[in-house]
Amino acid sequence: VGDPSEEWKRYRGSPTGTDIECRGWRQEAALRMLNNNLDPEVAERPEDLVVYGGTGRAARSWDAYDAILAELRELGDEETLLVQSGKPVGRFRTHERAPRVLIANSNLVGKWDDWEHFHELEAEGKMMYGQMTAGSWAYIGTQGILQGTYETLAELGRQHFPDEEGLRGRIVVTGGLGGMGGAQPLAVTMNRGVCIAAEVEEERIDRRIETGYCEEKTASVAEAVERAEAAAEAGEPYSVGVHGNAADVLETMLERGFVPDVVTDQTSAHDELEGYYPSGYSVEEADALRESDPERYVEESVDTMERHVDAVLEMQDRGSVAFEYGNNIRGQVESYKGRTDVFDFPGFVPAYIRPLFCRGKGPFRWAALSGDPEDIRRTDDAVLDRFPDDDRLSRWISLAREEVQFQGLPARVCWLGSRTDGDGLTERARFALRINELVAEGEISAPIVVTRDHLDAGSVASPHRETEAMRDGTDAVADWPILNALLNCAAGADIVSVHDGGGVGIGNALHANNHVVLDGSDLAAEKARAVFTTDPGTGVIRHADAGYEEAVDEAERSGVHVPISPE
Ligand code: NAD
Repeated sequence: VGDPSEEWKRYRGSPTGTDIECRGWRQEAALRMLNNNLDPEVAERPEDLVVYGGTGRAARSWDAYDAILAELRELGDEETLLVQSGKPVGRFRTHERAPRVLIANSNLVGKWDDWEHFHELEAEGKMMYGQMTAGSWAYIGTQGILQGTYETLAELGRQHFPDEEGLRGRIVVTGGLGGMGGAQPLAVTMNRGVCIAAEVEEERIDRRIETGYCEEKTASVAEAVERAEAAAEAGEPYSVGVHGNAADVLETMLERGFVPDVVTDQTSAHDELEGYYPSGYSVEEADALRESDPERYVEESVDTMERHVDAVLEMQDRGSVAFEYGNNIRGQVESYKGRTDVFDFPGFVPAYIRPLFCRGKGPFRWAALSGDPEDIRRTDDAVLDRFPDDDRLSRWISLAREEVQFQGLPARVCWLGSRTDGDGLTERARFALRINELVAEGEISAPIVVTRDHLDAGSVASPHRETEAMRDGTDAVADWPILNALLNCAAGADIVSVHDGGGVGIGNALHANNHVVLDGSDLAAEKARAVFTTDPGTGVIRHADAGYEEAVDEAERSGVHVPISPE
């Protein structure tokens, strides 16, 4: 990718304040969000343009990054910039209501859609891995995933431990404390539980401790289990990072006869070469092996994954609640080892998220372009004020205010959906319009940009994750995310993107994203009303079409038109 650019060194994060470098706030928002993705507080390896999730990048190379900034500064209010796998490739005159930036990352034609071909092109500088929110400039650090993990674990608690207060007295064992996995310990303690997280890179554990996401660390599994059991017995929330390979840590637990209440994993298993670490090597040794003998690295990596998955299956047999947390570790072991029994433990979406998707609910987020945390506090008040009866939402906002340290631009995330009230506005639209008013009134000091994860109700096809085990067998149908992206453009979103890959790896998912800039104008209100109706609405129609009664009911309740009702 070249050496970090002088521009990036000058920015080291998003510009803030109310003066802008671009010709309008929509372009400025893109410039700020791109730089926010590469803020050293936000990104995992900003000097390599890597934001999170293995090699998820914000731009293809440092030259491409510089060129994107130059284009954004020149981009007019009636123009649209095209970005192809992290490189700007064209600028056209369109119109004011059209998106300012359109992005396509990592997409390959079906037959060629695999890591091998992708890595060849990447090595030649022709493609970039965009992950989900890395290449679409919508990553906000660990908070986004913190909220998703909080919701997932809250739902798990409700389903499996209904008589308890959240996860109180329960021990969750997991792996991976990277960009997203790092949210797990805090999400567990926010649900009042105890977390043991295995991580091979000690600095990653240190980083989570520094930012308040994890409490302690140890290199001893015995010590971790002892401390966890003591905390669980006392009903106290607690988290500890164990420095070691997750496969080894789980096996050691089993040898000691320790069975956690819950077991999952967020190592970067979706990428066997650049994401997951094989057992038996230090991080430095493994990094050297990857360079010198990538084939051997992959062999060792998938051997470890198989042991890792076997340990999860054994824990499940002995009574743990086991689920895959979206890193495709089961799919990897299936495709390399031909093991179909790996799917004996479920993915988190069918287990805990789909009922929310049926209602168009998904991870909605926003960032204060001013850089002023006060602006987010005002948006928090607006959420509490708009949705006073939603206990889960109120608890999240109150906890987030106490526990979340902002990284880069102050931001907030919460799950809102398609549900309409008497005013005919969806939850998302109602909230966005209120924020737009607050910007117009000067209560919020600069525009707010609203975006979301690609993991949303109607924006993703991913057979090992978001669309695993769809009721009508349409897990791999990718028309939905494409329709979602096209509709986002039609509805007037300011940035729209379509990616291949993401959390589960090349060829395993297609997904789309959008941004809307709330600058207080009537145009922003119009766009917000349209986008935040159509976007969650595609989630409702996608699930209604697949035959989910909850979605059919939601469509009727919220006035989402479904031309042909499923039988
Ligand atoms: P990351 O690359 O930033 O971090 C992965 C971490 O795992 C690294 O710190 C690495 O050192 C560690 N690791 C790798 N192999 C290991 C091993 N064998 N034992 C112990 N530690 C090991 O990635 P991330 O952003 O944290 O995401 C992690 C994975 O989880 C990805 O595959 C991602 O796609 C997936 N994920 C999915 C969802 C979702 O579906 N909602 C959410 C979060 C993460």
